[in-house]
Amino acid sequence: MEEKGSKGTTHTLIRNFLIRCSFCRKKFGDWNSSAPYTFGCGHTICSNCLASVEDDCCPVDNYKSAISVRTLPPNTCILYLIEVAVPANAYETMISNHGIEYYQSMILMEKLVCVLNPNAFKKINNQVKPINLAKSLERKLISLASCQLLEELGRKDIIKYIRKLGERILLELILLMKSRQQQVNELFAALRSLKCQLFGPKLQEMIMRLLYNIMNEGERISRKTLTAYLIHQLDGRFKEESKNISNTSIGRAIQLLVRGSCFEVIPRDKGGSLLKLKDEIRNYEQFRQKLDAAVIKVAFEYDVHLKVEKWSLILYGSTDKSQYLNSMIDKLRPACLLNSRLKHISCTLNEEVGKPFQALRKLIPQFSRIEMLNPDDEYDLAKVKEMLEVAVEILYALLEYSEHFGKAKDQRQENAPTDVVVNPPDIITLKLDDPISFNTLDNAADLSSDESVDGTDDLIISPVPSTPLKDGINRAVGSAVAISP
Ligand SMILES: [Zn+2]
Ligand SMILES: [Zn+2]
Repeated sequence: MEEKGSKGTTHTLIRNFLIRCSFCRKKFGDWNSSAPYTFGCGHTICSNCLASVEDDCCPVDNYKSAISVRTLPPNTCILYLIEVAVPANAYETMISNHGIEYYQSMILMEKLVCVLNPNAFKKINNQVKPINLAKSLERKLISLASCQLLEELGRKDIIKYIRKLGERILLELILLMKSRQQQVNELFAALRSLKCQLFGPKLQEMIMRLLYNIMNEGERISRKTLTAYLIHQLDGRFKEESKNISNTSIGRAIQLLVRGSCFEVIPRDKGGSLLKLKDEIRNYEQFRQKLDAAVIKVAFEYDVHLKVEKWSLILYGSTDKSQYLNSMIDKLRPACLLNSRLKHISCTLNEEVGKPFQALRKLIPQFSRIEMLNPDDEYDLAKVKEMLEVAVEILYALLEYSEHFGKAKDQRQENAPTDVVVNPPDIITLKLDDPISFNTLDNAADLSSDESVDGTDDLIISPVPSTPLKDGINRAVGSAVAISP
């Protein structure tokens, strides 16, 4: 277990979470002296501490075990993971004390958790595989290893983690199938489909400043007037992007802000409406945050996954805002993405042909079974065993699939560029009077994607010379860059 750090993350994770008794903090040892025992609450303690347990209560949080601690079986899953030998007769004892289903379920748990340790994986599967799992996937497996199958609470946790596992594995599969650039393209396609426009960071910032300055006194202005004002102000400032600055694109940039709940939309008697900055927006930063949130929400709704540095590049043209955006993404993330990811991958798979995709298509019903699990329901051991089988199937499929398709990606690993390169935005030319939908959509609901995505950045922004602005806005701006799919 005390390997010299070569296996970096995996072993660090196991070291930190699984090898020590939750109570006395001593390392688990061999079967006889200090094997791990897991309570329904998820705490795992050593046999020494277990010996002094009173009233079947967990010594860490006083959780009252539903089964007598004298009959609690050792956690073979953890033993496997930390490479402690389990005596041959231990499983026989396990079967006679707790039944065949418990034994079978434990074997499945071991099969899941062993991917955290290449040695354990080799032992259980009799093969060597390079395993490079996302950290968040590893964390879910570690949580799974600390569940007590014999207790209802433990089984509920297992169901909960299987769902999380399914959700994350879906994300991994989606990411394997799509390049980062495809993900960025999808974001811009989503914005287009919503009749919204996000410009390159500098131009976007300029537009935001202009809008804030003209509206922060509570003025009510029509979209048409705002659009004309912006076009006039921007005229000649953004040479490289001038061809992208049109009534339509500016109208769409305003629509994005409407979508982000920046404005009150006040209907006019003669038709149309006026926009007024919402009272709750008290300074420019709040206004700007609304825009960032609006774009991130669109990404969640369309299940687009970008690394936080990439977000920072797209929205601000540098990675400086990563931390701020990270906390925003955390706040906006929906609770569960299983369903939307399932839809997403089903659609993607329908467009793909070829063997590996066929194999993946077969997994869809398995993911659906996971999706249908209700974490609040009670599940008996038979059902949990069934779902563990499903979990093993999808996890091992991910391993196979990463091996096949991950290689090309690995070669593309690169450092995040500090500049963003931008292709001219793909603006669909519409007539000026193209009706812009006025719904103040605030689909706060369905954002989700709990985890940040590790990956590459293919976005490049070319630096542009700054130009001083007139009209009292004393801010040097460079010519903006539009990022486009
Ligand atoms: Zn202990
Ligand atoms: Zn406990």
